[in-house]
Amino acid sequence: MASFPTRTGPKNSRRLVALALGLGLASAALGTAGPASATNTAGTPTRAATAGYVGAAENTGNKAFFDAVLKSVAKRQAAQPSLKVVTVYYNPSQAPSFRSQISSAASIWNSSVSNVKLQATTGSGDFAYYEGSDPRGSYASTNGHGRGYIFLDYAQNQQYDSIRVAAHETGHVLGLPDHYSGPCSELMSGGGPGTSCTNRYPNSTERARVNQLWANGLAKALAQVGTAAKAG
Ligand SMILES: [Zn+2]
Repeated sequence: MASFPTRTGPKNSRRLVALALGLGLASAALGTAGPASATNTAGTPTRAATAGYVGAAENTGNKAFFDAVLKSVAKRQAAQPSLKVVTVYYNPSQAPSFRSQISSAASIWNSSVSNVKLQATTGSGDFAYYEGSDPRGSYASTNGHGRGYIFLDYAQNQQYDSIRVAAHETGHVLGLPDHYSGPCSELMSGGGPGTSCTNRYPNSTERARVNQLWANGLAKALAQVGTAAKAG
């Protein structure tokens, strides 16, 4: 699958541009938006790890991103052990153009999995959505300080089904890696099946994987939070 696999924040984006553009589609699809014109209107932080909607070699970022969200949730769960439902809070206020798509993505996931729930907040949350223009498209990332965020690119969201893009990126929050070679029926195939793919729902394998991750992963994260607390 062609395209723009990784990017870093505006401050050090040049370094990975060559890597990203080596895969082709970026320049063809977004020819007017050169790297130098990349803007990030929301001022998202410099990225340390990445997973995008289209690309080829960015799965290394997925684990860091998921771990950041997991740790954030685990801290809250540890502070309030009585909480029965694992809730991941997101702040959509920095992506006002995509408010309905983000809300749809949350509803899609909430109706698809049982071990974790997404809920909007006006506070800092466990992660946030941002919007802007970037030649390498939409992505999920961490800021290098253990905070996860999702960036939604204007052009890519016009080219591809916007709710699918939002649901796909949110899938990274829930721990799923990219699988660009998969069919349209997979949410995490992202832009792989092309712009005509409008499936917005995870398939049964993806649902099962998220449920499994939050059943087992959170327990481990809680144990780590507990260990850290004891160690002072
Ligand atoms: Zn992705």
